[in-house]
Amino acid sequence: MAALIPINNNQKTKIIATIGPASSSKEVLTDLVKAGVNVFRLNFSHGSHDQHQQVIDHILHINKTFNVHVGILADLQGPKLRVGKIENDALEIQPGDILTFVNEPCIGTKEKIYMSYDHFAQDVKPGEKVLVDDGKIVLEVVSSNNKDEVKLKVVFGSTLSSNKGVNLPDTKVSQPSLTPKDIEDLDYILTQPVNWIALSFVRQAKDIKDLIKRIQAKNHFAKVIAKIEKPEAIRNIKEIIKASDGIMIARGDLGVEFPIEKLPGIQKMIIQRCIQKSKPVIVATQMMESMMVNPSPTRAEVTDVANAVLDGTDAVMLSGETSVGAHPPLVVDAMRRIITEAERHYHMQGKRANPDPESETFLSDVLCLGAPRIAEEVNAKAILGLTVNGYTAFRMSSYRPKPKIHIFSDKPHMLNTLSLVWGVRCYLYTKFTTTDETFEDLNQILKDEGVVKAGDIVINTGSMPLYKKFRTNMLKITVVE
Ligand code: PGA
Repeated sequence: MAALIPINNNQKTKIIATIGPASSSKEVLTDLVKAGVNVFRLNFSHGSHDQHQQVIDHILHINKTFNVHVGILADLQGPKLRVGKIENDALEIQPGDILTFVNEPCIGTKEKIYMSYDHFAQDVKPGEKVLVDDGKIVLEVVSSNNKDEVKLKVVFGSTLSSNKGVNLPDTKVSQPSLTPKDIEDLDYILTQPVNWIALSFVRQAKDIKDLIKRIQAKNHFAKVIAKIEKPEAIRNIKEIIKASDGIMIARGDLGVEFPIEKLPGIQKMIIQRCIQKSKPVIVATQMMESMMVNPSPTRAEVTDVANAVLDGTDAVMLSGETSVGAHPPLVVDAMRRIITEAERHYHMQGKRANPDPESETFLSDVLCLGAPRIAEEVNAKAILGLTVNGYTAFRMSSYRPKPKIHIFSDKPHMLNTLSLVWGVRCYLYTKFTTTDETFEDLNQILKDEGVVKAGDIVINTGSMPLYKKFRTNMLKITVVE
């Protein structure tokens, strides 16, 4: 396809693209960045570490070559359940049939089928639903021997093939959230400059806390994202948001485990809660699904992406569309155009973050949330902030202000991390002299970039004294000279 130059990353809502065979070459990755991708997602359910390494190397090279800050999100598979191999890769299943699930690997037949869950027989109860292949096959538990065998009655049948996913919406699954595969993948991921690590099938805050402990033990800067795809996670959503750095609304599995008509309401509820807590939130799955094949999206998909923007999400995510689809750069280009148009109609709805007087960051919170408010009041063209750990950017972004938030940091990895965050644009800045000089310098950078011109108003924020790198503690209204 024709080269998409210059790089189109002006939208406030960010685009995440999953990488796979259709997009792992340096050329396609470059086209995707030029089309508007802000963050690449490496899905550890697929691919070897060598393959992921090649993609990471390409992304780092692209960041250097084009002076961009594309982030990397590593997505851990989590306790995804699957059936084993099926005889001849096809088993006809009819309503009323009785199947037996076992926990010893075997070739699946009408007599017995292996499922990758050791404690299934102990955890499951009669009457609970078991969904196979994204709910195309619906089973109901008849009985369990509480050891290694579960009998299930077929409610809806279809052809069962090998390795299909299994969802247990009713069962309290006792499997640990980080599987041995996840731990192996994590060992590798933590040797890489990965910005975000997402954990699948999170059920409670503890799952996320375990992951954070492992990241901290390696002294790595990666931040964590909880993927919300289980009813249990919805029940524990408040604690999970508190424990995580970000949230992904994983609509694929969530739509299997939860009544599907509840998805739009859940999406709005989670986005609102995340904005109130200043945590970035991602809407994922089947956003532009028809573009796996077609060169343009359906009307429903255009409306879905636009509605996610109007809900106030930080980012929208592409999965199969960019990993195995036919037109990865076209999908991103279309998505960016939809976002840009939808943002013209976006107004922050619902409650904003409320600084908590009990919090140790209270004073800084008041300032970070005050800056965007003042910016709107004085019709400022830009809000500028400095950050070490991203805090100022998360807080300011959660106000969802009209002007863009320009964040300067001397930590190159932080610039890539903040690529995920709504309305934030990042710059490397290592000088840090006096506050006066720094503000002049930063305003000049925005002038050189064509973001502001003489006479424009900007809001400068920072911390005094600058060299101590406290949290943001001061604000200045500046007229650009
Ligand atoms: P997955 O998660 O791509 O790991 O399946 C996304 C989802 O379930 O929506």
